[in-house]
Amino acid sequence: MTRLFNEAATFKEDMLAGFLDAHADLVQGVAGGVVRSTETPEGKVAVVIGGGSGHYPAFCGVVGPGFADGAVVGNIFTSPSTAEVLSVARAASGGGGILFSFGNYAGDVMNFGLAQQRLRDEGIDVRTVLVTDDIASADRSEIEKRRGIAGDFVVFKVAGAAAEDGYSLDDVERVARSANDRTRTLGVAFGGCTFPGQDSPLFEVPGGRMAVGLGIHGEPGIAEEALPTAAELGARLVSAVLEEAPRDAGGRVAAILNGLGTTKYEELFVVWRTVSDALRDAGYEVVAPEIGELVTSLDMAGCSLTLVFLDEELERLWRAPARTPAFTRGAQSSPASTAPPRRREPGESTAPEAGPRGAEASDASRASAATVSEALGAIAAAMEEHEDELARLDSIAGDGDHGRGMVRGAGAASAEARRAVTEGAGAGSVLRLAGEAWGDNAGGTSGVLWGAALSAFGAVLGDEDRVTGAVLARALEAASAAVQQLGKAQVGDKTMVDAIVPFVEEFGGAVGEGSTAQAWERAVSAADRAAEETAQLSPRVGRARPLAERSLGSPDPGATSFALAMRAVGTVLRSASNEEEAV
Ligand code: ADP
Ligand code: MG
Repeated sequence: MTRLFNEAATFKEDMLAGFLDAHADLVQGVAGGVVRSTETPEGKVAVVIGGGSGHYPAFCGVVGPGFADGAVVGNIFTSPSTAEVLSVARAASGGGGILFSFGNYAGDVMNFGLAQQRLRDEGIDVRTVLVTDDIASADRSEIEKRRGIAGDFVVFKVAGAAAEDGYSLDDVERVARSANDRTRTLGVAFGGCTFPGQDSPLFEVPGGRMAVGLGIHGEPGIAEEALPTAAELGARLVSAVLEEAPRDAGGRVAAILNGLGTTKYEELFVVWRTVSDALRDAGYEVVAPEIGELVTSLDMAGCSLTLVFLDEELERLWRAPARTPAFTRGAQSSPASTAPPRRREPGESTAPEAGPRGAEASDASRASAATVSEALGAIAAAMEEHEDELARLDSIAGDGDHGRGMVRGAGAASAEARRAVTEGAGAGSVLRLAGEAWGDNAGGTSGVLWGAALSAFGAVLGDEDRVTGAVLARALEAASAAVQQLGKAQVGDKTMVDAIVPFVEEFGGAVGEGSTAQAWERAVSAADRAAEETAQLSPRVGRARPLAERSLGSPDPGATSFALAMRAVGTVLRSASNEEEAV
């Protein structure tokens, strides 16, 4: 239970304000997250990490000399937006290039990926190393699909130490990749975690039982077992992780016995006693182990064991000094200098100005813009109405944030569209601005995909032409293509794509035959059917994939919300007096 908060909606902001106040000697706030407040040498590679919040000390707690240069801080368990990543990356950048590192989650991959593209376009060299240490989240044959959990800490630490040592970007990337390749984790949970403002946990583990293979976003485990003794648990974790040792593992391992939120340090030490013996019995020498909370999951009860199969270089970087709010190592670990920060003022936005708001729009396009704004308002209302249902669907095999994400994204898009319409923007610009607002405010996988879809849709509409049914059909094709290009999901993977594709096809086929509103109506029926039919599918991408079986029998949340959104747009189209011209 998260008991202490003011407003659930501002938990992240309130947390950051307190954190920054307490650690002003090491960190300062910028739009989207935090960067070091200490001086760093010109030309140093910047290590920028991040993800959702709820994992402290990951991620903002490990910014400082010897560790990360900046951390992007999303809402609880939600990927930060592309704009947030860009803002922190620009503030952290010191001229030597940037390494992005974060756990392998679709929303983070897309948002950091879009930011990487943008920064490269601006001439900044950016590389990405995903953390994939969780052995329970995919089979060895699909190792690149595994998600990142406590191994995040290892990869960030190694990359941070290398960058501090003056490694080039190529070499920081190389050692970060090597750290990830040689790091394995298995976690267990005894009780679920609860979002601020919610009165029940995301998942529950029955009394006397233990969930094996949990994720750090409350994704339940892949197996359930009787609660073991501490010694049995220690032995089980060691044997499971050692089974995954890379082929060229030597005899030295770094280890993390990580508490997930409400497992006491004393309990961890009791488990560690067995872990340490078991590793020694298996012939390993343990190097600088960490026992404590390094990557948490709100108030989840549980722990995880991470082993890093060291080589000489990794061992040196693992042992290297660091000084951050949550983690200090080594004698010479004080900040390099007490000189005033060279970076931006706290809170100052580093994001570029928004583009022109469409002063050039034609009257016809402005009329369509008003309908677009109304349609976005209808989507926002529908998402509010169905928020709980979407949250429930997403908590079956995902992380439960889909309802909240859709409400935030659609609400922001609708507000931005209204604003743009009053400023005289055309339909294309309204959609572009609304798409940006959606992506920036929703976070998560669905947020960035909806943002990209609206922007692509708007690019076809433009600010000049009258919007006909045929134009709408092309715009829908473009939006669908944008989602598939960014998310790389195909029909049958159990995502929103399963509802989008039939919707777009049906609309394209029907638009010549009747009014636009009628064609839309038929497409909505197709999307509804397709969304329902996703219940028969197992997810092959996204957060729900590791729990594929659990999701059988329930429809995909993103497909469901897409169908609901299109239905809401349909009501706007129906009530528009002259359908062909109104949109
Ligand atoms: P997150 O998975 O980051 O928590 P949401 O819960 O908001 O994001 O959205 C989950 C939905 O996103 C899924 O139900 C699915 O429809 C959609 N989704 C996930 N991954 C992809 C992808 N790669 N391509 C298209 N849609 C995806
Ligand atoms: Mg989700």
